[in-house]
Order: sequence, then C-alpha cells, then structure tokens
Amino acid sequence: MEQHTRTDAYVDRYAARAAGMVASEIRALFAVAARPEVVSLAGGMPYVSALPLDTVGAMVGDLISRSGAEVLQYASAQGDPLLRERICEVMSLEGIQACADDVVVTVGAQQGLDLVTRLFVDPGDVVLAEAPSYVGALGTFASYQADVVHVPLDDAGLVPAALRETLERLRRENRRVKFLYTVPTFQNPAGVTLTAARRAQVLEICAEYDVLVIEDNPYGLLGFDHEPMRALRADDADRVVYLGSFSKTIASGLRVGWVLAPHAVRAKLVLAAESAILCPSNFSQLAVREYLTTQPWREQIKDFRELYRERRDTMLDALDAFMPEGCTWTRPAGGFFVWLTLPEGLDAKAMAPRAIAERVAYVPGTGFYADGSGHRHMRISYCYPEPHRIREGVRRLAGVVERELEL
Ligand code: PMP
Repeated sequence: MEQHTRTDAYVDRYAARAAGMVASEIRALFAVAARPEVVSLAGGMPYVSALPLDTVGAMVGDLISRSGAEVLQYASAQGDPLLRERICEVMSLEGIQACADDVVVTVGAQQGLDLVTRLFVDPGDVVLAEAPSYVGALGTFASYQADVVHVPLDDAGLVPAALRETLERLRRENRRVKFLYTVPTFQNPAGVTLTAARRAQVLEICAEYDVLVIEDNPYGLLGFDHEPMRALRADDADRVVYLGSFSKTIASGLRVGWVLAPHAVRAKLVLAAESAILCPSNFSQLAVREYLTTQPWREQIKDFRELYRERRDTMLDALDAFMPEGCTWTRPAGGFFVWLTLPEGLDAKAMAPRAIAERVAYVPGTGFYADGSGHRHMRISYCYPEPHRIREGVRRLAGVVERELEL
C-alpha cells in the first residue's frame, strides 16, 4: 500500500508507519473553504469569539505578572495537580467519580488518542470504531498501523447487536481486538448520541469479550435539551479510558485535554507523554486552572450551548425548507455536526468541487471511514458560521444537490 507521492525523494527512507500518514479530506478543504465568499459548513471550529476575550486577556496578564516564574517553566509530565482536581470536578457533571491522580493532562484530546494508541496498538491489531468515525482518530490509528474495523451506528448511536456480531466474527478469526473507540455523545461526524439503554449494552458486550473502551467525549457538556448524559466511564472505571478536552468548553487554541485512565494504565501513560512532549504547556494549563477557579465557567458553557442550539435550529430549519426529496439527515441534540445522506446514486465526494464552485463547502463522508466508503454522506457543521450564513450555505447546498439530481 504505497501512498507516498512519486515526487518525494525521501520515499525509501520513511518508516513503514509513515505510509499511513496521508492528508485528511478536511485539511485539504480548509484552504478553499476559508475564502470569504464560500460558506464553510466544513470545519469544526468552536466559536471562541463568544468568550469574554478582554476578561480572559486580563486574567492571563495577571497570571503572568503574579506567577510568571512558575507559569513559564517546565512542569510535571502528568500535568498540574490543581488543574487535575478541577478536571475531576468537570467530569463529575457526567457522573464520573475520579481521583486527580488518575488524570493525565494532554495537548488536547488528540494527544490523548495518540498516547493511548501508542500504548495499546501494535501494527495489525484490530481497533473497532463507529462507522463513521472522527477523522482525527482514524489518522492516529493509521499512523500506528492499526487495522480499523467499523461497527455501524444509527440514530441511537453504536448498534450493540452489530458490535456483538463483529466481536464474534473477529474471535472466530482469532483476531486480537485492542479496543473499541467511540464518541458516544453528540458524535463527530454523525451528531448522534448513544442512548442510556445502549450504553449499558455496549459496556456489557465489551466486558463479555474483554475489550477496552476508549470513550472520546469532547462535546458531552454541549447538550441542548437536558442535563449531561452519564459517561460510559461513570459505570466502568476499569474498562473505560476517557478522553476529555477543553477545546469546546473553553478554547481550542489552549490545547488542553486529558486522559482519565484505569489506575494501572496511568503510570505508562505518563511515561509515554514524557517521551513525547516532556510536559504539557504549563502556561496553557495554568490559564485553564485560573479560568476554572476565577471565572463563571458553568455559565459560559451555558452561553455556548445557547449559541450552538440556535445554530443547530437554523441548520435543521434550513434543511427542512430547502433540501430536495430523498436527502436525509440526523437531528443532533448537542455538539457541532449534522450528518447528511444524499439520495441513491449521488456521490458527495464527486460533488464537492461543484459545491465549492457554488460557494459552499462541506466534508465528504469518505474521510470518516477507514476503507474510504461513505460516498453518499457528508458532514455539515453549524458551530462556526453565523446563523444567516448557515441558512445561505444550506440553500446553496440544496441547489447543488438539485442540479446533481437533474444530471
Ligand atoms: N475527538 C473528537 C471526537 C473531536 O471532534 C476532536 C476535535 N475536533 C478531538 C478529539 C480533538 O480535540 P482536541 O482539540 O482536544 O485535541
């Protein structure tokens, strides 16, 4: 499977794992989607402008004046102890009872994914992942030469019967399954949420087949309708490795996330983190700690929820109003994303350049499947554009689909 370009003079020198490192469809789209005339429903950027930037600026300035010598210094690989306590408070909102000693602070949840995969996956090992799955996780799994086996999801999240069937088949084939990777709440890209009943079933099946669960939960506190869902980790502390992030609840540019691992795994995780980065940015960590200590962060999350709820409503209303017959889409109860399925015979990947020509961008579904399937699907996000732009973007997109149906 040679995926390097022919013009790359270093092609014979790369390690085998570099073959799996290929540009994601999303990255390729960002350049065109950033043009002002294009309405981008492609990116998943949080709307950080909603933060009280002056207040955050003053807080950070004050932090440096007061404790610059600490803030600007190296620190422990596991992360700041007081921040880890705050993180436990945040997780308690999802029913998790954790001890700060089991938390490892990472450079976003993305580094958590990398560390966990590095710890558990040998080339050729099977990793189970929802179909579709977060593109950044698929990239990480590819770079560690995992064999990703997809398990379907529907409007109620991962399908337990399909999970069982897949595990049964892999057992018969004598394949080693290292973990199930799942985004149970407000999934990226599908926007669906695993129901409470299915959560219990998924944990039960994973216990039966002795499979670890990686619960990636950056959107859990961004629900529009009710109190946060109970995390999988809340009901199985030994089997679930939880990945958390402040990217969507505070600011993605700070790059602060965390892993909550079973106690026995934590020590290895810290060693892996140390060899990767020595320690996470103390500046970012202490900024987050200060923010969580001095700012009304719960109210800010409520404000984010209101903002994203309005944008979700705008997108769903526009889809109802404009999309031609035969298109279907998910109705997310939180998070950033809607997953749209085109009528039979249409191909979202082939259509993308024509959409760009009509000044609207989305992410074709193919990027969210390790095997490159998903041609009839696309991810459209409502997190970043202003509501009037979302409506205009969906209107343009509907026009593109209509013309496609006439071809
Ligand atoms: N997991 C999922 C499901 C995501 O959507 C994202 C961000 N798009 C990440 C992990 C990475 O987040 P972070 O900014 O914390 O690295």
